Amino acid sequence: DPGGNVRVVVRVRAFLPRETDAIHDATEISRGAECLIEMDPLTQCTTLLVPDGADPANSRAKSRKVIEEKSFTFDNSFWSHDRKDKHYAEQEDVYNCLGEEFLDHNFEGYHTCIFAYGQTGSGKSYTMMGTPDQPGLIPRTCEDLFQRIEAAQNETPNISYNVRVSYFEVYNEHVRDLLVPVVPNQSPYYLKIRESPTEGPYVKDLTEVPVRSIDEILRYMKMGDNSRTTASTKMNDTSSRSHAVFTIMLKQIHHDMETDETTERSSRIRLVDLAGSERAKATEATGQRLREGSNINKSLTTLGRVIAALADPKQRGGKRGGREQVVPYRDSILTWLLKDSLGGNSKTAMIACIAPSDYEETLSTLRYADQAKRIRTRAVVNQDSIS
Ligand code: ADP
Ligand code: MG
Repeated sequence: DPGGNVRVVVRVRAFLPRETDAIHDATEISRGAECLIEMDPLTQCTTLLVPDGADPANSRAKSRKVIEEKSFTFDNSFWSHDRKDKHYAEQEDVYNCLGEEFLDHNFEGYHTCIFAYGQTGSGKSYTMMGTPDQPGLIPRTCEDLFQRIEAAQNETPNISYNVRVSYFEVYNEHVRDLLVPVVPNQSPYYLKIRESPTEGPYVKDLTEVPVRSIDEILRYMKMGDNSRTTASTKMNDTSSRSHAVFTIMLKQIHHDMETDETTERSSRIRLVDLAGSERAKATEATGQRLREGSNINKSLTTLGRVIAALADPKQRGGKRGGREQVVPYRDSILTWLLKDSLGGNSKTAMIACIAPSDYEETLSTLRYADQAKRIRTRAVVNQDSIS
């Protein structure tokens, strides 16, 4: 099936210490510390409860009515709120449910993209990168990739593999190579975007390193991760204000002994950790931060417009090329670079990350995710015969 919908999953994280501390510190129980999310493991339905006070009439009957309007169904709902719950979704569960299947597609020759969306502190980096003890989708994908390659090489000597990796971030509408070491006291070096008729938009002069083992790829992953620009904001002082794009290029060269034919399959694995989706005003940012916020918003608001345009039923079945004219990919660096992943040759998934007790931001994330479900991409197997 070449036209598949964007797969959309949602994941809710546990309370952070600072959120539960509010319960002990405040004389009045903090409303911010109640979990507003319910997930039904059978239907995969996610419900956002309206906190007391958000409903003007605050009557039980009225609250009920509102609650029913805030239910969303996604392809998967990952309950990572309460470790004691038997449906608790570990990092491994997220990988087994989504990452593994996407890696299967890569070996079949499809391009894939998984991106994490959500407000700062909702668990995007935890889900994508994770921690040394609790590795996320990116390190698990790297590991599984090389395990599969090693296993295949032992079984089928007529296939050879070539893996390359790149890692860049979009910060303030600039592209920075994360695999180039940062030189202190030297202004950062930004890369330009080009568009090729066959390959689509790409980052010019981006470092693409060949990798031959799990250790090697993980080393580059860590190097790039350390290099990611971070700046503190009121909401989360360790959170990154940039969009990070980790890309693995997998090439499989297969030689058929009987027909003496050589075929090459190339697939691209994109794993994207977006900057926080909250509005700049919510962070009470000022000066440089505000500028960063508004530029980050430019990529995110454009992403929202691109998703809205692609989700529009009028986009489907239109005449060839019509799509490109109305979808504003080129209005931001991020959407330009992700053009193929969003509306073209890719199997794509979005992980909507949500905090347990932030009504406004969670509602906006769930609505965003709900719209993304309607997007169809047109993935093809990227295979060529070579002599
Ligand atoms: P974001 O990247 O969206 O800003 P983070 O991934 O940094 O958010 O998550 C914020 C905090 O919450 C971090 O301390 C992280 O370790 C923790 N966290 C997020 N998701 C989970 C989870 N599913 N389980 C445990 N801790 C989590
Ligand atoms: Mg982060």
